[in-house]
Amino acid sequence: MYGPPRRHSNDGIAKPKSIKEVPSYLKKLIVGFFSRYAYIFKLVWSASPLLLIVLTLSTIFNGVFPVVGAYITAELLNELVEAYTIAQSLLSLPADVIFETVSSEVNIMFWIVLELVFLIVKSLINNIYNAITTISGEKVSFHIKTSIITKSKDIDLAQFDLPTFYEKLENATREASFRPVQIISNSFSVISSFISLISFIIVLATLSPFAPLVIILISLPAAIIKFSYGRKNFLYMKRHSKQRRLMEYYSNIMTNKDIAKEVRMFDLSGTFIGKFKTTFKSYFSGLKKLVIKENLWHIFISISTAFVNIALVIYVVYEVCSGKMEVGDYSFYSNALSSVISCVASVVAATATIYQGTLFIDNMMEFERVETKIKPAVTPALDIQRHIPHTIEFKDVSFSYPGTDRLVLDKISFKLEGGTTTVLVGLNGAGKTTLIKLLTRLYDPVDGVILLDGIDIRNYDIKQLYKMFGTIFQDFGKYATDIEENIYFGDVEKGAVEAELDKAAKHSGAYDFISSYPKKYKTPLTKYFEEEGTELSIGQWQKLSVSRAFYSDSDVLILDEPTAALDAIAEQQIFKQFEELTKGKTSIFVSHRLSSATSADKILVLENGKVVEEGSHKDLMELKGKYFELFSTQAKRYVENK
Ligand code: ADP
Repeated sequence: MYGPPRRHSNDGIAKPKSIKEVPSYLKKLIVGFFSRYAYIFKLVWSASPLLLIVLTLSTIFNGVFPVVGAYITAELLNELVEAYTIAQSLLSLPADVIFETVSSEVNIMFWIVLELVFLIVKSLINNIYNAITTISGEKVSFHIKTSIITKSKDIDLAQFDLPTFYEKLENATREASFRPVQIISNSFSVISSFISLISFIIVLATLSPFAPLVIILISLPAAIIKFSYGRKNFLYMKRHSKQRRLMEYYSNIMTNKDIAKEVRMFDLSGTFIGKFKTTFKSYFSGLKKLVIKENLWHIFISISTAFVNIALVIYVVYEVCSGKMEVGDYSFYSNALSSVISCVASVVAATATIYQGTLFIDNMMEFERVETKIKPAVTPALDIQRHIPHTIEFKDVSFSYPGTDRLVLDKISFKLEGGTTTVLVGLNGAGKTTLIKLLTRLYDPVDGVILLDGIDIRNYDIKQLYKMFGTIFQDFGKYATDIEENIYFGDVEKGAVEAELDKAAKHSGAYDFISSYPKKYKTPLTKYFEEEGTELSIGQWQKLSVSRAFYSDSDVLILDEPTAALDAIAEQQIFKQFEELTKGKTSIFVSHRLSSATSADKILVLENGKVVEEGSHKDLMELKGKYFELFSTQAKRYVENK
């Protein structure tokens, strides 16, 4: 059903096999680029329109600033040379007279004031730009993170069984929060660099039409290298998601409180730190090679550019020395020259970053495209009738987990009448939890059908279905909030109602330990966030989780071994409460302790994914089969232990 995990499609475009395929390859590259680009634009616009407006304005300013700056400097220099020449001719006069004469003839002050205004406006605009991009950047990043976690809520549980899903998630979260802003701001800086470039090219063209041409030509190799390594880098990062996740996993083991005990007792730290280092080494070695190769190319290209640059400088120096140009002209042209070089470099670098960034955005789009399969099979979805005893029926239900062919449930059929209590019995791995996961539609069967009140559960509204079940799984949630929330999370719509909290806590047996804490329901749990946080024992956590199930406004209560960490007496008490509370409600209880099963209406014995026995305690004891065997072994052990 889920198919084998696919290999990466990289950026989704196969390289051309012949020259004939090149145009369509280029077309696909360009179309792909622009569709990603449009996606990013929409994303940033929806998060912060102000960012786009500020970027547009600053782009125009940043584009013309360098030329204006170079022009002012050159004029200032020319005026200075003129002033110097006049001053030299008046050397016999007193200094103040020289100054006055020079000042009246040469307008230096005007250019100095202009330079001052220019510097102030430039830094003002730069600072405003920085502040707004930083603030808006955070907003965009928040927007994207929110959309990722919002998408996560709709992702089928089945996806969590596939490594490819974790790969998509890691790739999406790793870069997506900063890439969009980076791409957009780079796009604008490309435009402003382009404006500057054009203005400087015009300036240089007055020197010689070949000058800008030579510089642009020599910049081409740099562009090619940047683009090609941008792509290589992207593909490398994408393919090595597994190694990054491994490193994260190893470092989490070293810092996870729950595992810390074992890591110390079995002395596993050396092993995991070693694994971390080995993974990093192999991850890093490929990355290092890419960086070194790319930069070797750039060194070679920079040296060639420097030679061309100096050749043009020599030409201008010659012109000044032979009296054809002024000193200010030298400043203007040499400034234009280095500006053209740096503009071309920044246009190339920014476009390469944009290109690489749009590839990364693919990761996020891929994650967004993860399909939800658990959804109503009919539209409009059927409503569930509430507060009635529900019948549940499995008809030839088979199931295997994603990525495997092994049938964990094999053509299971049974019927639970409305308002009855059923206990699921079976050895570890028999398929009890899986059965519950199918009943609650966390997964869909591979074959067969599950009926609720005679209707396929796939036809019901998912939210209503989930709300109708009050389920506590073996690996229930331990929320690092206060006790109150840990209970009323069973029904967030109801919120915290003191009397109801008391009732749920009393029924699960949690009331006593809660009342012994000074802050009662407001006691913060775990020490992750609060110094005075309370650590509970597993048994206490279990009682809280059972309170949560009791608090929920559910029609069908399902407890999947919620009492494994409790002693036999506590379990008996919970089971009694459970029977009391579920009078008239359909309820399912998974337990290892068969003493709990004696009063159930029905017992289902599961073995290797099949229902091997079905009936009441009395029926099954008389049958003298699997249940009898399990029950007798446990009873014998109890008697012997007494
Ligand atoms: P039980 O609750 O009876 O102990 P489960 O229903 O948890 O058994 O598991 C039944 C079988 O399904 C086991 O063999 C287990 O290894 C397998 N299994 C459980 N969860 C998954 C999963 N997410 N992916 C693959 N196999 C799983």
